[in-house]
Amino acid sequence: MASLRVVLLGPPGAGKGTQAKLLREQFEACQVSTGDILRKAVADQSPLGKEASAFIKRGDLVPDSVIVKLVAERLNEKDCAPGFILDGFPRTIPQAQSLEEILQKMGLGLQAVLLVQVPHTVIVERLAGRRTCKNCGALYHLNFNPSTKESICDRCGGELQQRDDDREETISARLKVYDNQTAPLVDYYRQRGILREIDGVGNVEDIRHRLIKTLEDRAT
Ligand code: AMP
Repeated sequence: MASLRVVLLGPPGAGKGTQAKLLREQFEACQVSTGDILRKAVADQSPLGKEASAFIKRGDLVPDSVIVKLVAERLNEKDCAPGFILDGFPRTIPQAQSLEEILQKMGLGLQAVLLVQVPHTVIVERLAGRRTCKNCGALYHLNFNPSTKESICDRCGGELQQRDDDREETISARLKVYDNQTAPLVDYYRQRGILREIDGVGNVEDIRHRLIKTLEDRAT
C-alpha cells in the first residue's frame, strides 16, 4: 500500500469524513479528524471537551492553540507514522502555518491538499439529514444513505443520532465560519502548488474515484 500525507479541505458536509475513512482503507495512513476527537472529548467530559463544547455548539472554531496541540500529539502516534489523512484541520491560516512547522520538525511535507467542492445549497440538505452511530461513528443520511432499520446502525446495532451542530440554526453559522476563516486556505495552498480541486457533488463512490484519480495523477 502506498503511503499518503494529505489534507481534505472543504466546507462542512462536503463529505471529508466519509472520504477520509475510505481513503484510509486504500492507503497506509491514519485518519485525523479534529471534529471526531473533539466530539469524543465532549462526550467523555474531559478537560479538552469542557473547553471545546461551547464553541462547537455555536458552530464557532475552537481556539487554534488548543487544536494545534491536539494535532501535533496525534501525528506523533504510531499509526500515523506511515502517513495521515487530515480531515477538518487546518481550518485557519495560523493552523496551516503551525502544521507546516509540525511537519518540518518531523522531516515531512504535505503531498496534496484535496479541496472537495460542494455548493452551500447542497450542504444544507446533506447536513440536516446526516446521522452518526453513537457507538462506532459510522455515517448515514436519511435520504442518501439510510440505515436498514430506522435509527439503528447496520454495522454495530448502535443508536443513530444527529449531531447538535447539524441542526439548521447552527449550519448557517458554520458555513459563515467556513467562508470567513477556512476558505482563505484555498489560495494559501494554491500558491504553494499543492491544491487539487475535486467536484464533491454526486454519490460517495463517484467522489472516491475522483479523489483516487487525482492522487494517481499527482504521482505521475
Ligand atoms: P467537524 O466535525 O470537522 O465539522 O467539526 C465540528 C466542530 O469542531 C467545528 O464546528 C468546530 O467547532 C470544531 N473543530 C473541528 N476541527 C477544528 C479545527 N481544525 N479548528 C477549530 N475548531 C475545530
